[in-house]
Amino acid sequence: MRIGAIEAGGTKFVCGIGNERGEIRDSISFATEHPEITLDKVISYFKDKQVDAIGIGSFGPIDIRHGSPTYGYVTTTPKPGWENYDFLGTLRREFDVPYGWDTDVNAAAFGEATWGAAKGLSSCLYYTIGTGIGIGVYSEGKLVHGLVHPEGGHVLPRRHPNDDFAGICPYHGDCLEGMAAGPAIEARWTLKGHELPVDHPAWEIEAFYLAQSITGAILLNSPEKVILGGGVMQQSQLFPLIRDAVKENLNGYVSASEILDHIDEYIVPPGLGQQAGLCGALALGLAALRTTK
Ligand code: ADP
Ligand code: ZN
Repeated sequence: MRIGAIEAGGTKFVCGIGNERGEIRDSISFATEHPEITLDKVISYFKDKQVDAIGIGSFGPIDIRHGSPTYGYVTTTPKPGWENYDFLGTLRREFDVPYGWDTDVNAAAFGEATWGAAKGLSSCLYYTIGTGIGIGVYSEGKLVHGLVHPEGGHVLPRRHPNDDFAGICPYHGDCLEGMAAGPAIEARWTLKGHELPVDHPAWEIEAFYLAQSITGAILLNSPEKVILGGGVMQQSQLFPLIRDAVKENLNGYVSASEILDHIDEYIVPPGLGQQAGLCGALALGLAALRTTK
């Protein structure tokens, strides 16, 4: 079985081929440019690969509502050329195979639930904290879509007492993404995340905002695992800071031993590491193939 996988990020695209065990055999990566240039590269990669299905985890917002006239489109992005772009339709015209189509973070959540840190569980949340903040929601064995799709990065947090940074989200200013994504860290401290020392006060503030979101998400969704990925989470000192702050926020209210006694195994990095996104797309492709059989 040969499944095509596309991790479509706002900064870079990764395309690969994998199998039903989640093993990626081949992959390439290139910068995200104007959609025609980018999709040309995707199409030429898959041209001779004879895939049985293709899974796509895409940056968004995207239209994932079955039956919608713009199903498969990237919708309101400010990225040049991508607004209202028929991503899925462009691929369908080239390759007549089943497609899995979802957000990048939903794909990663699904990949983690299939082969990674949430394997065997029926729920998890997948956060990416990178250029933006996105949250994929997997619940009762299914990805959550609803009205459009969850946009957990734009929830409004309570402010840290020592933080007067205005926030940089173009829509909301000081939403979670505007306060805690990689570019917000850089704008607040005038240094990139990887340039800040591990004991810099930036990390306690970063953990404060992320823990607040995770606390709310635990209370709302009751996930069995919370997985934190993305470039900013390369700062592994954030994990203990976040775990402690989540426990403090919850204050014993959620009486699950996963949180009270084993939080180190509850809030974790992706089990699939850097391949979480691509494996997630692979899992979507595989699921699409199975539902058409
Ligand atoms: P993207 O979100 O575009 O897919 P990343 O997840 O790598 O890509 O996120 C990029 C953001 O993460 C940038 O703002 C960058 O400064 C930040 N970042 C990347 N690596 C690190 C690191 N090691 N430590 C802290 N921040 C990082
Ligand atoms: Zn926002």
